[in-house]
Amino acid sequence: MQLATGTTVIRHGQLIDGAGQPPLRDAALVVKGGKIVYAGPVAAAPAAPPDAEIIDARGGTIMPGLVEAHFHATYFDVAALEDLDIKYPVEYVTLLAAANCKLALECGYTSARSGGSLFNIDVWLKKAIDSDLVPGPRLASSGREICGVGGLMDWNPDFRKIGMEGLVLLINGPDEARAAVRKLVKDGVEWVKTYPTGDAAAPDTNDHHTLCMTFEEMHAVVDAAHNHKLKVTGHCRATAGIKNALRAGYDAIEHATFMDREAMDLLLARDVPVVPALYFELASIERGPEFGLSQRVIDGHKETLEGGAESARWILKEGGRLGMGGDYGFGWNPHGDYARELSFFVNYVGFSPLDAIQCATKTGAEILGRGDELGTLEPGKLADVLVVDGDVAADISILEDRRRFIAVMQGGVVKAGQMTRPAK
Ligand SMILES: [Zn+2]
Repeated sequence: MQLATGTTVIRHGQLIDGAGQPPLRDAALVVKGGKIVYAGPVAAAPAAPPDAEIIDARGGTIMPGLVEAHFHATYFDVAALEDLDIKYPVEYVTLLAAANCKLALECGYTSARSGGSLFNIDVWLKKAIDSDLVPGPRLASSGREICGVGGLMDWNPDFRKIGMEGLVLLINGPDEARAAVRKLVKDGVEWVKTYPTGDAAAPDTNDHHTLCMTFEEMHAVVDAAHNHKLKVTGHCRATAGIKNALRAGYDAIEHATFMDREAMDLLLARDVPVVPALYFELASIERGPEFGLSQRVIDGHKETLEGGAESARWILKEGGRLGMGGDYGFGWNPHGDYARELSFFVNYVGFSPLDAIQCATKTGAEILGRGDELGTLEPGKLADVLVVDGDVAADISILEDRRRFIAVMQGGVVKAGQMTRPAK
């Protein structure tokens, strides 16, 4: 991705650094050659060269670009699980995924960690974004997801003979788990996404207290993935599944819905980040009926909402790390709504706006494995920056409205926001 040339000075706003410091009033951010060279009080800022570009934050907020930590670029208006693998061919899903990436960037998301991809689209999308061919968040790619035969993601009956090829690699036993990882290694993914547990979406045979992989299978996944320098994460709701994942050496946990003390100790021992993706549960409850979700499914989502909110609060209190990502791409939880996750954590879970922002910036960058380059406004880091018209620390929901973005910057280049729109 090309970096900006020259110097840009952003001023006349409060600075939120993403590392949890209170907002700094009357701040300036100086960017040179695409990287931050100064973040601090405007009074102490270095003198700008005469040709520097000046961006006026209009008394608003200067903050790090957001990181969507559970991003499905390839999901689009999914109304039933079946939509995921048989609705569209790979050609159209690729175009939809590119459109979703452009939208995410316009929504202030300058980076994203994939939570699973149809076909092998993420890998090539990442290349296209890195080459400035399509606009989008800096992407950490996943590929097809791994699930045990008969588990949550194995819903096409055998008599249809259509398998689940574009979506999941179905496995029986550690040898097949290893073989699936090796396929993904060849595909070029960075993250291996697995399904250790079921979900409220499948109340009959794979509900949120069910396991979809054995410990031995999960351990084989980690063993093969780590050998090839890939990271592993998994959809973990049931307590036993969370513990299996932590004991198997997972690098992140998605959801971590039903935690107990033992699971917490395992989590904290290796400081494994968790991405709860909780607003999805509320959206499923509130909007599920219009999409035909059954009462049993909605009741299950109520249970995972309560359990997940309690676990997230507890993890934060215990000093664990949480990323903000929301499984967007379903009909009731569409792309573009990403920042609702942050408002939800403030309004429903009880996080402070600065906590939610730190989860969505610094921790997100750490989950990407790029905490030294991204995620906070500090000298030396890439200038992935949001300039927002409004006080985000006082009203987090401002981030939901992309019309409020004055500038969305990647590497010092303004990619979206009011500055990129022609004046009316
Ligand atoms: Zn997901």
